[in-house]
Amino acid sequence: MDSMNILVTGGAGYIGSHAVKALYEEGNQVVVLDNLFRGHRKSIPDALPFYQCDLAETERIQSILLDHSIDVVMHFAALTYVGESVQQPLIYYRNNTAGALSLLTAMDAAKVKRFIFSSTAATYGEPEEVPIRETVQQQPINPYGWSKWMVERILLDYCRSNPQFGFTALRYFNVAGASSDASIGEDHDPETHLVPNIIFAALGKNDQFKIFGTDYPTPDGTCIRDYVHIEDLISAHILAMKALKDGDQKFYNLGIGRGYSVREILNATEETLGAKIPTIQDVRRSGDPAMLYASSEKIQKELGWKPLHTDVHDMIQTAVQWHKTHPNGYGD
Ligand code: UDP
Repeated sequence: MDSMNILVTGGAGYIGSHAVKALYEEGNQVVVLDNLFRGHRKSIPDALPFYQCDLAETERIQSILLDHSIDVVMHFAALTYVGESVQQPLIYYRNNTAGALSLLTAMDAAKVKRFIFSSTAATYGEPEEVPIRETVQQQPINPYGWSKWMVERILLDYCRSNPQFGFTALRYFNVAGASSDASIGEDHDPETHLVPNIIFAALGKNDQFKIFGTDYPTPDGTCIRDYVHIEDLISAHILAMKALKDGDQKFYNLGIGRGYSVREILNATEETLGAKIPTIQDVRRSGDPAMLYASSEKIQKELGWKPLHTDVHDMIQTAVQWHKTHPNGYGD
């Protein structure tokens, strides 16, 4: 396929930066937009056009789209902490929902017709059945989930009004790992995610790793999640982008279809490092469902997506490599 002109919003974030890298290495013209609120300028190649720009700047985005003859927008820019969304819902609706609306308004004006949207398993809430299929009723349980769910709704309505528009929304489960060459990886502040926090305790950056809840109704009492490697997640975006057609309104889960408990991830990290990790058992973190894992049959069948990093040790190894070589993250 010919190279495409792609705008990546949130391109300096954890997931966006891995998308930028893969799209650039494939020979596409990649333009990066990020307000650098939580993103890192150093996570993107200097050679690429970069705009420090907020999603609220509709007219500026419209000009960027036109100036670079953008064919497709991959939209990663968002706030992503569930707990923070409960404390500060308005900021989540402003960034995630109003931000997407502003971006779509700019795209409409610039006649850009292809959109890949980072959605989330948080739009499902706590479904009674696992594995979770795309068809299950969505009932988010926090503002973060609702803020993304609303964008899914907006996309459906907009797509119906504009038959040439086509979008794919990818509902992520848990994303972990780093690029295989360890050049980019995860650098959040604060870091709330499981895999980096286990590694921080292993490397002495944190005193200990805390297991949030050991009394869940799961085989070992800890929460179960579906962890997908960042590079596999990105390969799904590229497949989705290439498959997009006029009028497409697609929703796909992105998980590997297997759940791992917190203890299993901890054990796998200890095996990967060959060391015991100082751990304490803590109380449940509020809002954590016991068990979430995906059925990703739909994307595997329809787009031929095949995750390559299905051994969790392999995923953890890439994260370990990144944190060992970047003890202070991007250092900014
Ligand atoms: N978790 C934990 N200790 C930590 C961070 C996370 O026990 O320091 C647990 C958390 O309670 C959840 C799972 O690990 O059950 C995954 O959490 P994460 O924040 O990585 O992703 P989420 O599932 O909340 O999107």
